[in-house]
Amino acid sequence: MFDYHVHTTQSADCSTPILASCAAAVERGLSEIAFTDHIEHEPADMSYGFFNYDTYMANLQHARSVFGDRLVILAGAEVDFNRRIASEVRDFVEAHEFDFVIGSVHYGEEGQIIFPEYFDTRDLEDVFVPYYEEIRAAVETGLFDTIGHIDLPKRYAPGAAGAYDPLRFEDELTSIFELMIRQEMSFEINTSGIRQAPRTSMPGPQIVSLYARLGGRLVTVGSDSHVPDTIGAGFPQTLRMLELCGIDSVSSFRRRQRSQVPVVSLL
Ligand SMILES: [Zn+2]
Ligand SMILES: [Zn+2]
Repeated sequence: MFDYHVHTTQSADCSTPILASCAAAVERGLSEIAFTDHIEHEPADMSYGFFNYDTYMANLQHARSVFGDRLVILAGAEVDFNRRIASEVRDFVEAHEFDFVIGSVHYGEEGQIIFPEYFDTRDLEDVFVPYYEEIRAAVETGLFDTIGHIDLPKRYAPGAAGAYDPLRFEDELTSIFELMIRQEMSFEINTSGIRQAPRTSMPGPQIVSLYARLGGRLVTVGSDSHVPDTIGAGFPQTLRMLELCGIDSVSSFRRRQRSQVPVVSLL
């Protein structure tokens, strides 16, 4: 199994040393792990200016020297994206070498983070429609290998916002997926949703099925772990879900080059 979304001490919201996560990955039988710290260009965010590439790479090299014979350790990044910070994001991604880069949208209008308070003055439509515009813009940049947690707002939507129907935004998702398929860009099945409020991966099976019906086949799988206990969490059921939805392989990356690994060999 591969876990392609794990944070380290180079993320402001994570205090887990890289070696502890590598040990947990080996113990759980994972063969590959991508460390994807927050790269933040939104000035208000706690992670703004926190990441240090040289420290991160030194930590990664040390982890490879300890665990490299048992675990493939990839240099990854979770780069926050929205159109306000697009040029800074481009400059960063083009100037730094990684194996694998996730593009994630965490901010909505006027630089407000999409947390529960964001829904105080907005209904689901007001949140998801502009959110998907930013996701689409992220795909258009061509800067990323995969798009992170593409229905993230469901994680923070309060019950009062009403029932979340994943296919209510089918038109927006269809246009995003058609573009992703043309650009051969993956998106991520983020399993943190299974252990958090939505109790389903981000995205879940309805959206994955829509993508498969449109002819898409490229997905990555990540736990979004900030602690060692959750590395690889929810993977067996997620791989089974992918199979049921008609996705028979998972994407793997080395130096930004993709290859496909059959789901059956990971199960
Ligand atoms: Zn994220
Ligand atoms: Zn993350």
